[in-house]
Amino acid sequence: MCAIASAATSESSTGTPTHFLFAEEHQAFRKTIRQFLEREVNPHADAWEEAGRMPKEMFLRGGALGFFGHCVPEEYGGHGGDCRWAVVLAEELSHARTSGVGMGFGAHSEIAMPHLVKFGTPAQKAKYLPDLVTGRKVAALGITEPGAGSNVAGIQTRAVRDGSGWRLSGSKIFITNSLNADLFFVACKTNPDLGHRGMSMFLVDRNLPGFTIEEMKGKLGRRGSDTGLLTFDSVPLAADALLGEENRGFYQVMKGFENERLTIAAGCVGAADYALEQTKQYIQSRPFGFGHLSDMQVTKQRMAKNYMEIEAARQLVHATAWRIVQGIPSLKEVAMAKAFASEAAMRVIDDCLQLHGGYGYFADYQIERAWRDIRLDRIGGGATEVMYDIIAKQLEI
Ligand SMILES: Cc1cc2nc3c(=O)[nH]c(=O)nc-3n(C[C@H](O)[C@H](O)[C@H](O)COP(=O)(O)OP(=O)(O)OC[C@H]3O[C@@H](n4cnc5c(N)ncnc54)[C@H](O)[C@@H]3O)c2cc1C
Repeated sequence: MCAIASAATSESSTGTPTHFLFAEEHQAFRKTIRQFLEREVNPHADAWEEAGRMPKEMFLRGGALGFFGHCVPEEYGGHGGDCRWAVVLAEELSHARTSGVGMGFGAHSEIAMPHLVKFGTPAQKAKYLPDLVTGRKVAALGITEPGAGSNVAGIQTRAVRDGSGWRLSGSKIFITNSLNADLFFVACKTNPDLGHRGMSMFLVDRNLPGFTIEEMKGKLGRRGSDTGLLTFDSVPLAADALLGEENRGFYQVMKGFENERLTIAAGCVGAADYALEQTKQYIQSRPFGFGHLSDMQVTKQRMAKNYMEIEAARQLVHATAWRIVQGIPSLKEVAMAKAFASEAAMRVIDDCLQLHGGYGYFADYQIERAWRDIRLDRIGGGATEVMYDIIAKQLEI
């Protein structure tokens, strides 16, 4: 793996030097991802959006291209890298004509897998990680419940001891990859009397008796990604299904949010980049008066402001990634990056749709989907208000 580059050799997709964080091999990785999208994803985007999921085989392609191994040590088949690869992946996958791939791959390798890497026993890692890295197995993370989303401490799903193992009962809602996943990382209470200090995580195989998965339909956006409702009816779990320490699950979940929120923020930057590229082309070709829509000063200024906001978001995301690579605690910065990037991307993509006029309201133009898709990022992985709470607490306000 490369060291942080010292020369200004690389550029972001909007032309800004990213020398302080990325090296040539990250930029080459960007190209690989773009080619993959162009050849293997975009031609199928409409079909997958219609079907509400991408085919599971896409995870094998992602694995073959090395998309899932950057946080995994080499002994388990990974590349032993750091979060810069995740940032590049999230930014670039947002340039697809369907969000299914970015969302599905992200939930697998950036949201679920890091829990196993950080908290798994050597035996659990050896058992699962090689298949997760290659995409032979797909992972999902189940934290949110019908009665508890932002308030993670309020979850009710319960694991009770049963001989040497456990029995799991409860439900999880809005779970990404539900239909494709083989392995679920599930947060539950093992000692409800202790509140958030009585939470643990378990590895749950989709084939266990008492575990049912129901597809959730009718999403506003992210339609190329599957979402499901999980129900656990006294599901038997072996003793070695416990992931991490008993009753330390809340802290594991909070630690896991670092990677999840950073990559959501990076995805927002990528999505806004993609919308801006399309909008620039649109306004420069849309006849208006004696010229084009882009000839008006007010349009130029709006676009300048939009690019500026996304550039600010990108720099915040990259600076936060840099801190994490250096090992600097970054709870506040990750929350800032997630809140800022998701709010900025929503505003910018809304303005991009506005610049498309009535055409922006129809699916013939990509901006319609981009607008629906980006709405999730102010909610998922911790709503903006939750990010503000974290920032204020860290600032001792
Ligand atoms: C498409 C999709 C995919 C998802 N994938 C997953 C997944 O894979 N795994 C998983 O575990 N979860 C997943 N989620 C769940 C997601 O993370 C939650 O929806 C999110 O955390 C918010 O929880 P909630 O929906 O229960 O909203 P609530 O917690 O009920 O919050 C509702 C609203 O209240 C406000 N609010 C909340 N807290 C505060 C506060 N402290 N201060 C002020 N206002 C506040 C915010 O505006 C918030 O949006 C997914 C959700 C969606 C829609």
